[in-house]
Amino acid sequence: MLKCLNGDQEVLSFQLDEKGWDLLRQQNQQERHLQMSCCDARVVLKRSKLNVPFFAHLKRGLCTSAAETSEHLAAKFLIATAIESAGWRVTTEMKGLAPNGAVWIADVYATKNDWIRVFEVQWSRQSNEESIARHSIYKQSGVRTMWLFRQKEFELPSEIPAFRLIHRSENSFCVEIETESGEEHIELQRFVKGALSGALKYAPTMNALLPLEVWIAKMDCFKCKRTPNIVAEFRILASRNLPGHRDLTFSFEDLSSSSVAETLAQQLLPNASVLQKARIGPVKMRYSKTLRISYLSNACAYCGVLFGQFFSHHAYDHVSGFESTVDISKNLVDAIDSLEHQVNVWWFNTSR
Ligand SMILES: [Zn+2]
Ligand SMILES: [Zn+2]
Repeated sequence: MLKCLNGDQEVLSFQLDEKGWDLLRQQNQQERHLQMSCCDARVVLKRSKLNVPFFAHLKRGLCTSAAETSEHLAAKFLIATAIESAGWRVTTEMKGLAPNGAVWIADVYATKNDWIRVFEVQWSRQSNEESIARHSIYKQSGVRTMWLFRQKEFELPSEIPAFRLIHRSENSFCVEIETESGEEHIELQRFVKGALSGALKYAPTMNALLPLEVWIAKMDCFKCKRTPNIVAEFRILASRNLPGHRDLTFSFEDLSSSSVAETLAQQLLPNASVLQKARIGPVKMRYSKTLRISYLSNACAYCGVLFGQFFSHHAYDHVSGFESTVDISKNLVDAIDSLEHQVNVWWFNTSR
């Protein structure tokens, strides 16, 4: 552990320089004045395999606190020092009580004014159920908690901030985040400081006005044998306004399967005469004899025949056809299923 007690005073290993650490060890060897915070056992000062100074039980006795790996200690040490340098107060192995009586012990606990942030380093495997249960206990206690998992797979509700933590070498860790250019690795201390200063946000595209590209593609008309264009997909360029954020995309099929497809098409697409100039037939509700329903469809700009969803897979030569802006409203996200998991994500501002 990075914390022990001297009477009722906390002693934190990451707050001592090398000289202070050696002096404390000598003093403790003579006086045995330090106590563990998990039980009242006497303390021995050690250095981990990764050279992190920490406090251990002189004799473990009946204490049930889990032994920590050197990676777990090192990650906590880096997080704690990053929090301090960001001007927050910090302690480790902080014990708290939820309103329902459940006890929690936070790996790293940061406070500033009325804000409380907890960082949990999960080096041992934890099931999704347990993560959700522990998160709920923190939430009930009014504590905002971030999870850093060694394990690759975890599936938590998207609003819970949870990321993969990777040990690169010695005392170097990074956090894996999703960006427009793929998975990016942010150095742990930079990530922690960013998280405390607003660089980490949930669903930042919600209610934002963002650039929209309508992508079009060529289609060989099966009836008139000419080659008109069709509306193929939509790309919302979130990364332009939010550096690192993934662009949001959805297909024409995603749009046409929405219950408010017609209204949305009017908002997202240029009017029929602009479409016609681009050799795109009117995009509107049409009755399909095959499916026996009306749905939003592309049509041939030359002969007017409906292009069913089936045929759109034969479109080719996709290019950006039109640019405008779109308001990422709740209505839009609710109307197009594939947008939900693209909008409700954590975004780390990579420009900071
Ligand atoms: Zn103990
Ligand atoms: Zn045609």
